Amino acid sequence: MNRIEDCRRILVVGNGIAGQTACDSLRAAGFDGSLTIVGDEPRTAYSRPALSKALLVDGGSPELAPPLHRATELLGMAAVGLDVESRRVHLDDGTDLPYDGLVIASGSRARRLGGPESTEKTESTELTLRTLGDAWVLRERLAAQPSVVVVGAGPLGMEIASAALSVGCEVTVVADGRPMLSHLGPHLSDAFTATAIAQGLTIVDGSAARIDAPRGVILRDGSRIEADLIVTAIGDIPNTEWLATSALTTDGRLEADSRGRIRPNIVAAGDVAAIPTRCGVRRIPLWSSAIEQAKVAAVALLSGDDAPELDLDPYFWTEQFGLNLKATGHLPVSGEPEFLVGERPEGPSVMRWTHDDGQGVAVAVNHRIAIPRLRRMASATG
Ligand SMILES: Cc1cc2nc3c(=O)[nH]c(=O)nc-3n(C[C@H](O)[C@H](O)[C@H](O)COP(=O)(O)OP(=O)(O)OC[C@H]3O[C@@H](n4cnc5c(N)ncnc54)[C@H](O)[C@@H]3O)c2cc1C
Repeated sequence: MNRIEDCRRILVVGNGIAGQTACDSLRAAGFDGSLTIVGDEPRTAYSRPALSKALLVDGGSPELAPPLHRATELLGMAAVGLDVESRRVHLDDGTDLPYDGLVIASGSRARRLGGPESTEKTESTELTLRTLGDAWVLRERLAAQPSVVVVGAGPLGMEIASAALSVGCEVTVVADGRPMLSHLGPHLSDAFTATAIAQGLTIVDGSAARIDAPRGVILRDGSRIEADLIVTAIGDIPNTEWLATSALTTDGRLEADSRGRIRPNIVAAGDVAAIPTRCGVRRIPLWSSAIEQAKVAAVALLSGDDAPELDLDPYFWTEQFGLNLKATGHLPVSGEPEFLVGERPEGPSVMRWTHDDGQGVAVAVNHRIAIPRLRRMASATG
């Protein structure tokens, strides 16, 4: 297969940004056959990044622009199995969907401190933020201004802490190391941490071991933190269980090639897929990565080796504690930056770092700048 004319029925599993982008890209590449997208959330796709920013802070909408693809959307239905030989996906209502081409875009879910052994009691105590439903629950709970402990000091944990602080909660973050160090590097981590502390955030250095429902978080050193509300933001787990008997995964890991292909007629994109990167084969669970992967995978499904390979031009942003950061290039960065605009990391500023291999990173903080311009600044020609 892999000629556009041989592929008449394409099925997309996962109604997030990767699935939606794959559908748009298939149509843009000339696919006019049957296109079906299956999503287990009972609603149209929305922006996940907006959940911890606009929605949590001021109720802003996470709505996405309407899709262009005219696909049949089966929402509130989950794929529960895949038969690669007969080219069928099994759904949770007992029906099967046949396909010629398959896009796996089932994303990931929040990792829970309670782990797979979570009891009902710890699950209702431990809030996470992954879905629109999660965001509504969290927003409602924060409105009562409870004391909050956030476990995890990556960008998501820090955004949740920032939102909680902004509505008047007393907030403690449990950080296993310096906040966002592995995401941003020491310079930016220090600047953001200092701003957060100045605004009233308490940071406890430690590693959380378990939840002691209903109010306690127990750290590995045995100490205990109490709060009215416990939120964890400790990473994500790819949704690959429905592929368990397909022989496409190894220990739950789904590896795609540089065009997103798993098989000639099966591609994967977004948070679910591990892809070749400059740091080895790994998942890059970020919004712009999901979009770029989906664009490449869609074309690969139709054109095989004639499709371009993925060439990620990373883009990352976060909004927290009054700081708005946009970054192009590969994070984290080490050492001191060169200031292209301003002179303080808290901004308004544009900073540049250059990795040992000559690749540049440009970071704007509280500075309105178009992304293409920031990219040019990263490559030292801006
Ligand atoms: C609160 C939050 C804030 C974020 N902020 C940022 C940010 O600032 N910058 C950034 O770059 N990234 C951010 N991210 C990450 C970014 O949102 C993700 O990388 C992106 O949404 C991944 O898209 P996806 O389509 O691969 O997966 P998802 O968005 O997870 O979509 C997959 C969909 O498939 C569904 N699904 C799963 N299994 C099945 C099944 N078996 N059958 C049918 N459907 C299924 C899922 O329910 C989901 O609806 C944030 C994430 C969160 C949760």
